[in-house]
Amino acid sequence: MVDNVLIIGSGPAAHTAAIYAARANLAPVLFEGWMAGGIAAGGQLTTTTDVENFPGFPEGIGGPELCDRFRAQSLRFGTVIHTETITKVDLSRRPFRYASDEREGLARAIIIATGATAKRDDIPGTRDGELWQKGVSACAVCDGALPMFRGKALFVVGGGDSAMEEGTFLTKFASKVYIVHRRDELRASKIMQERARANPKIEILYSHQVVEVTGEGVVQKTRVKDLKTGAVRDIDSAGLFFAIGHKPNTDFLGGQLKLDDQGYVLTTPGTTETSVPGVFAAGDVQDKKYRQAITAAGSGCAAALEAEHFLSAHPE
Ligand code: FAD
Ligand code: NDP
Repeated sequence: MVDNVLIIGSGPAAHTAAIYAARANLAPVLFEGWMAGGIAAGGQLTTTTDVENFPGFPEGIGGPELCDRFRAQSLRFGTVIHTETITKVDLSRRPFRYASDEREGLARAIIIATGATAKRDDIPGTRDGELWQKGVSACAVCDGALPMFRGKALFVVGGGDSAMEEGTFLTKFASKVYIVHRRDELRASKIMQERARANPKIEILYSHQVVEVTGEGVVQKTRVKDLKTGAVRDIDSAGLFFAIGHKPNTDFLGGQLKLDDQGYVLTTPGTTETSVPGVFAAGDVQDKKYRQAITAAGSGCAAALEAEHFLSAHPE
């Protein structure tokens, strides 16, 4: 049996594509991943608290609840969902071959919506086998409420919206939150910057770098360096959270699609078409500019419409 449309991913892009493809009677098959890229099925929004900028929810909505709703809507129109990670695709000819750890299949068209994963910096003390997951994390929302962080000083590395959001979130538990940014100007949006600056528990260390994290079994001290003066100091702290951006989940493509120098899938401007006809890409895996739930959903819609159009012109 050959599937019409294989959708790989589980965030707003994948589920919007599934809703449109299912309603176009394309019987989409969606692989939502099993901790793919280190994130639960549902994608990046499963790692956040309130989503306040997705239209239709004037009071805001919890990230995990919004993901559940996307999934329920895909299922309602008949999308078949497998909780498995796609490990391999063969894009050399149609129908395209694909495989997870549990099954193999064929698809006439593919929509790639595998999103992106949080990056970690290579700082002494933060690596696997050192203090990673012993106070060092890349997800404040997932780990911030742990008892080990209560009433302690915590560090967030980064200067974007994630750093502002995670820093603000951590003030619920921490005595103080230091946001360490390598430049003297934040990348975050104005509103997120203002919220962080207005929080009395947050101190932003501009033009600073974390150079080491130390502790006996858990994080106890963070060493920071002022990049302008070169001054170094140790600050007592129980945790360090990376919020330094994301890496697109494209390794499984094995170089078969054109990617940019950071690994994002290249699409023809104004479309979701990739370098292989019949393969479309939507959401953060191809977008390093907007990276929002609503833009991911919008491109998921476009990918489904373009896949439908492609299949009408190339049924086999
Ligand atoms: P993702 O959400 O990245 O999901 C893709 C998922 O696909 C992966 O997580 C994984 O589960 C699955 N997957 C990956 N590889 C495979 C594979 N090989 N096989 C099968 N499945 C796979 N945006 C907003 O608009 N508002 C916000 O308030 C907001 N808050 C955010 C807070 C945080 C902490 C973060 C990190 C991001 C936030 N964003 C927010 C950005 C938003 O989450 C993303 O833009 C959006 O989730 C991207 O959706 P996506 O569909 O491209 O993929
Ligand atoms: P960004 O890429 O926007 O920001 C990453 C930050 O980390 C930058 O300030 C960058 O510094 C810094 N950085 C990168 N690498 C390093 C490193 N090795 N060492 C130290 N610092 C480093 O990523 P975000 O995750 O913040 O945001 C991603 C997308 O998600 C954005 O589009 C954002 O708007 C969206 N988002 C939206 C939210 C909301 O609307 N509520 C909440 C969270 C995310 P530099 O600035 O110098 O490059």
